[in-house]
Order: sequence, then C-alpha cells, then structure tokens
Amino acid sequence: MERKAMIISMKIGATKEEIAHVCERLGDFGYKAHPIFGEERVVIGAVGHGERKEQAMESIEAAPGVESVVSISQPFKFVSKEFRQAKSPVKVNGWEIGGSEFIVFAGPCSVESEEQILATAEAVQRAGAHILRGGAFKPRTSPYDFQGLEVEGLKLLLKAKERTGMAICTEVMSTEDVDLVAEYSDILQVGARNMQNFNLLKRLGKAGRPVMLKRGLSSTIKEFLLSAEYIVTSGNSNVFLCERGIRTFETYTRNTLDLSAIPVLEELTHLPIIVDPSHGTGKRSLVPAMARASVAAGADGLMVEVHPNPERALSDGPQSLRLSQFDQLMKDLRPYMDLWKAERASAQAAALVGKA
Ligand code: PEP
Ligand code: MN
Repeated sequence: MERKAMIISMKIGATKEEIAHVCERLGDFGYKAHPIFGEERVVIGAVGHGERKEQAMESIEAAPGVESVVSISQPFKFVSKEFRQAKSPVKVNGWEIGGSEFIVFAGPCSVESEEQILATAEAVQRAGAHILRGGAFKPRTSPYDFQGLEVEGLKLLLKAKERTGMAICTEVMSTEDVDLVAEYSDILQVGARNMQNFNLLKRLGKAGRPVMLKRGLSSTIKEFLLSAEYIVTSGNSNVFLCERGIRTFETYTRNTLDLSAIPVLEELTHLPIIVDPSHGTGKRSLVPAMARASVAAGADGLMVEVHPNPERALSDGPQSLRLSQFDQLMKDLRPYMDLWKAERASAQAAALVGKA
C-alpha cells in the first residue's frame, strides 16, 4: 500500500495538550506522528498507510492549536518544495545563504599552519569572499595521507576569524567531535563520504549550528535530500546543500560536476544550494568556468579551494587556486553576480506579489 504523508504546523504557542491530541488523532487514522520542536513552533510530520487521508486532513485541520495541514507526496517531506515554496535562507554572521546575496566560501582544503590560514583568510576576504573554509579533520582516501591538524586546526581557524571577522566553515567527521567542532565553527560541514552517515546526521540535528551537507560521491538527488531530511527531522532546520561532483565513467576530471542538480534541486527543495567546482573538477584550470556556470545556473553560492602555495599544499593542491587567481576569479564573476542579484531580486518581488 502506498505510504502517505502530511505535515501539520501547530500555531505558535500551541499547548502540550493540543500537540498530544493531534498526535493521538493521527494515530486513530493510521498515521505515525513525528513531532519536531522548533524554536518558534511545533510541526508534526505524519506518515502512514491511512486509508482516509482527506478525512484525516480535514479532521486534523479542525483540531485546536492547528495552523495548517499540507499533504506531501515526495519521499523527503520537510525539505520538499511541497512543504515550503519559498527558499529557506540560512543566516550566518550577518550573511544569508539562499538570500539576496551570492555567498562565496573560500579557503584551503586543509588548515596547515598559522601563516597559511591567516594569509589565505586575509587574501580571500580582500577579494570579496564572505565565509572562510578550511579542514581541520580531513576525510582522506588513504590512511597514509595528511589527516588534518584537528583541534590545533580549529584553534587556527578561530584565530583567522578573530583577525578578519569572517565566519568559519569546517568539516566534522564523527559524532564524538560534533560538540568540539561546533564550539569553533559557525557552519558544520558534512563531507561527501559522510553523506549517509546517519548517526552523524541525527547528531547534527542537535548541534545548534547550521549544517552544510555535501553530496555523496555516488548519491542520487533523492538520497541527497533524504540525508538532509535526517538533519531536519532530528531538530535542525538550518541546512543547506553543496553539489561537489559525482563519480561517473569520466576520468579526465576528478568528478563530474552535476550542474543540472541546481535547477533540479530548485524544483524539489526549499533548501539553499551552493556549488564546489574545486572538488567538482579536481583541476584549477577548470574552476573559473564552472564557477561562472554555477552563478548562471542559479546556485546560492560557491565554495572554492584557495592556497597561498598550491605546490606545497598537504591536500588538494592541484585544484586549489593561488591567491591572485582567486582575486581574478572574483573580478571575473562580478558581472555574473550582478545579473544574479538582479534576477534574485525580481524573483523575490514576484513571490511577494504572488503571496499578496
Ligand atoms: C573538502 O571540502 O575539502 C572535502 C573533503 O570535500 P568532499 O567531502 O566533497 O570530498
Ligand atoms: Mn579538499
């Protein structure tokens, strides 16, 4: 039998009794209730094999404390466009990912030393980047490769933040490290290799920090969105996605950057999405063209690896831009970003008119 789902948004200030009553009524109709206690209000996801969906929806709609009931046909519920039409911007340090500004994340693959991270942070900020990236815990394919400076790396990122005022985005690889990384970082990055680490995703629901979820190496878009759904249903709706290329038969590039994922995700989800052309191509010479294409495709931002001396980088040197190349990239992107901004403003205005 087909599994049916709906999402019930409770009114702000709905009482415990009203929430319990809705969950009980859902049970009567054959639905399992998953209440999520947000900062502002409670929303209840309901999934089941219930026969009488229309009747259930009408009955729940009339229950005290209920604001609205929507029916969701997609396998991912809370992150789907059916649940929310408008994009859900993620606020970080005064910026909004998925808002009216195109947001650029830049920095080295790995934090390697104080001089390296400070020089990179200052240079990318001067060039116009908004958020500093840098790995302290590194998920390396080979156990013999550099694994990251770990806590020392987090401390250096904090130093760079104090120096520049830029927010930090860094990867967390395991559930045990979530609290530690959240202490230092403004955004918690889930790497491609961990996209389906469901225990980590669930734990991030309680991390109290925005999460950037990277697409898995061989993941479908449906799997990508179901992973985001784990974080949201575990209690954290501050999630955005990162397309970083997928594995295909092509070997000339490190990955195949799936730019069609941008408009596809735009159709399916309200979560913001950024593009990482560095891992997406694996080659520095290919990064600028894919960066321009990402802006044109309507992504909400970019993540670019930058290193003061890529030849000496401890990870991902071949795909890292030099400081001067990043500066040039930002200059070249300017007209594309201006067009992006104009288009975003008119889309937002049209959405407002639609609502009125
Ligand atoms: C990274 O951002 O440095 C990284 C390891 O990316 P991914 O998880 O996409 O391979
Ligand atoms: Mn990297």
